[in-house]
Amino acid sequence: MNAIDPSLEAAPVADWRSYPIHADLMSLQAASDHIAVTWSDSRVSPFHHQWLRDNCSCSQCVYSVTREQLFEIADAPEPLHPQRTRIDEQGQLLIDWQNGHHSAFHPGWLRAHAYDDASRAERFAQRPQSRLWRAEMAEQLATFDYHAVMNDDATLLQWLLAVRDIGLTQLQGVPTTEDVLPVLATRISFIRESNFGVLFDVQSKADADSNAYTAFNLPLHTDLPTRELQPGLQFLHCLVNNATGGESVFVDGFAIAEALRQETPELFRILCETPVEFRNRSRTSDYHCLASIIALDAYGAVSEIRMGNFLRSAFDAPVAQMPALYSAYRRFIEMTREARFRVQRRLDAGQLWCFDNRRTLHARTEFDPTSGARHFKGCYVDRDELLSRIRVLQR
Ligand SMILES: [Zn+2]
Repeated sequence: MNAIDPSLEAAPVADWRSYPIHADLMSLQAASDHIAVTWSDSRVSPFHHQWLRDNCSCSQCVYSVTREQLFEIADAPEPLHPQRTRIDEQGQLLIDWQNGHHSAFHPGWLRAHAYDDASRAERFAQRPQSRLWRAEMAEQLATFDYHAVMNDDATLLQWLLAVRDIGLTQLQGVPTTEDVLPVLATRISFIRESNFGVLFDVQSKADADSNAYTAFNLPLHTDLPTRELQPGLQFLHCLVNNATGGESVFVDGFAIAEALRQETPELFRILCETPVEFRNRSRTSDYHCLASIIALDAYGAVSEIRMGNFLRSAFDAPVAQMPALYSAYRRFIEMTREARFRVQRRLDAGQLWCFDNRRTLHARTEFDPTSGARHFKGCYVDRDELLSRIRVLQR
C-alpha cells in the first residue's frame, strides 16, 4: 500500500484533533448492513452503513468553518446501501452511496473511532482515571511553582493533569496581592461566579452569611452542594495566615466512597440512590438542590461527591428507609474523620490550594481570630473548563 499523503495527518476530518495512522486498511468485506474492515494488524472492525453515512466529513455534510455537522442521518435514504466501496492509493476508505453521495474515511480517524470490542476496550483502558489517595499523600503533595505555571504551557498542563487525576494540588511562590488569583484562574478559563462573588474572601466576619466566614471548626464538605452543578475547581489563595489554628484538611471523597463500596456495599448504595436536600438561605438568596451524596458515571465509577452537613435539610425518605439512611450517612461522616483518609496542612502566605470541589472534601480546623490575621482569597472554575483546557493543550 502507498504511504498516505502527510497533509492528511493534520486534521483530515471534522474536528480539531489529528489522527496518526497506527494500522492500515487491508481489505473490506461487505455484509447486509455493514462493512467489515480488516486492518494491517489483523483486527476486524465492522462499520454499519448508517454509522459510515452519519460520519461522512465531506463539505456538504460538515461545515468547514465550524467543523460541525450539517447532515442528519434521518436525511439519508433507508435502507442505505453503498454502491461501491474501495481503499484508495492513500489508504482511505471510499464509499459511493446509492444516491450519488461520496464519502472518504481517513484510516487514522476510522481506527480511532472503531467500535469492535477490542477497539472499545482499548479506548476504555486509555480514559483518564482518578488516582485515589489517603493520608500518606501529605508527604508527596502535587506541588507546582506559580511562575512556571504562568509562563510555561508544559508546566501548566502537568498541573492541570494533577488537578484532574489527583484532585488536590498546591502552588507555591504565589504573590500575596489580591489581584493575582483571577489572573491565575483565567490561565485555565473564565471564573465561575456565585452569590459569594467572582472572588470570595475567607476570613471571619461579624455578620457571616456562611459558617465559612466564621472562626469555627468547619467539617469536611464540598462547596455549594446547594447548586445543581457544584463548582468544579476551588482555589484558595493564602494572603496572610498569622492566626493560631486554622489548618486546611482534605480527604479524597472518591477514595472514601470506594472504601465504603468495599467495606459496606449496602451503605454505599444508599448514598448513591437516596436524594438528599441541601439548601442555603440568606436575607437575599434561597438555594436548594435535591441530589444523592455519591454520584456515579455511566460506567459505575464514582464521579461526584456532594456533602455539606451544615447546608443539609432534614432527611425526607420513606419511613422504612430512614434508619438505614442514617446508618449510611453516619458512616460516611465517620470515614471523613478517620486518620487514614485525612491530609492536614497549614497553608502559609504565598501558597495556594487548587482542588476538585466535586471530589475532594475540604475543611478548616478552628482558629483564634484574636491571635493574628487570616485571609484567604477564593474562586471557582468549572470542571468542563479544566478538561477543555487540557485537551487543547494536548492537541
Ligand atoms: Zn458527505
